[in-house]
Amino acid sequence: MKYAIGLDLGGSSIKYGLVSNKGDILQEGKIPSFADESSDRIIEQLLLAVDTVKEYATNNNIELCGIGIGTPGIVDQINGVVLGGAENLKGWENIPLGDIISKYSGLKVWVNNDANVMGLAETRFGIAKGCTDVVFLTVGTGIGGALIIDGKLYGGYKNRGTELGHFPFIADGEPCACGSVGCLETYASAAAMVGRYKRMYKDMNDMECSDVDGEEIVRLYKNGDKLAMAAIDENCRFLGHGIAGFINIFSPQKVVIGGGLADAGEFYLEKIREASRLYVMPDCALNTTIEAAILGNSAGFMGAAGLCLNE
Ligand SMILES: [Zn+2]
Repeated sequence: MKYAIGLDLGGSSIKYGLVSNKGDILQEGKIPSFADESSDRIIEQLLLAVDTVKEYATNNNIELCGIGIGTPGIVDQINGVVLGGAENLKGWENIPLGDIISKYSGLKVWVNNDANVMGLAETRFGIAKGCTDVVFLTVGTGIGGALIIDGKLYGGYKNRGTELGHFPFIADGEPCACGSVGCLETYASAAAMVGRYKRMYKDMNDMECSDVDGEEIVRLYKNGDKLAMAAIDENCRFLGHGIAGFINIFSPQKVVIGGGLADAGEFYLEKIREASRLYVMPDCALNTTIEAAILGNSAGFMGAAGLCLNE
C-alpha cells in the first residue's frame, strides 16, 4: 500500500488528507487559505496542513511517498510552478510551489490545476474508476474541466490547455471572465442559470427577485415553478450541447459532472443526457455515458494525492 498527502487549495480554504493508492482516506481536514492576504500567507497555511498530516503519519507509522497539490490557475506541472491565472488568490503567480513544499517537507511534490486533479480523482477513485478516457466538468460559478486520455491527465503542451469551460460557444455572445465572449461557461454555468432566472423574473414581475442561488432554483423547479423550470431547461440544453461537442471530439467512456449542480438529482443528469443526445454524433457517443461525480469535496485532495500515487 502507498500513501500520499493531498492538498486542495481554494479561494476560501485548504482541504487536505492522507490518502492511500486504493482511495482510502486515513485523515482529512480543512483550514482557511487566507487567499485574499498574500502568497506567503497561503504558503504558510499549506505548510501547516503538511505538518498536520505528516504528524499523523509519523504517529501511525505510515510511510509517505509524496505530496500532491491541486491549485487554481495555470501550472507548469513538470517544474511544479504556479504560473498565474488564479484570480481569487492574491499574488498567486510565478510561485515555485513544488520546490518550496519539497524543501520544507523533505518529500517529493507534484502540483497540478485543481479541476485537473478533481477529474483525476473521479477517474482513479470515483465514478469513472477503471475508465481510460474521461471528460470531467465541474459546473459552478464557472465551468472547470479535465481530460483523461489513455489513463493519463492530458493538459496540452506545457499544461496550458483543457479550459473546457472556455470552449467558444456563441460568436458575439455574452462577455466572459476570460476576456473573450460567448464561452460555454457564460451560458451553461450555475451562475449563468441564476442570471437567466433573475432576468426572467424581472421581465415577468417588473421587479428584482430576492437573492437566489442554484440550490434555491432547483428547489423551485421541484415545486413546479415555471421560471425555475425554464432556467434549468435552458442550462441543461446549453450544457448538453457543449458536452455533445466534447463527445464528438474525444469519444470518452464517461463524461463526469461535478460541482454544486451535480447534486441537484437524477432529473438534472437526465435532462443533460437528453440534450446531448439531440446534438451528438451517435457513432462518437456509442461508448459514452454521462454521470454525476461522487467524491464531492474530497475530490480535490484525493486527486492531488493521486498525482503521487500514479508513480
Ligand atoms: Zn471564457
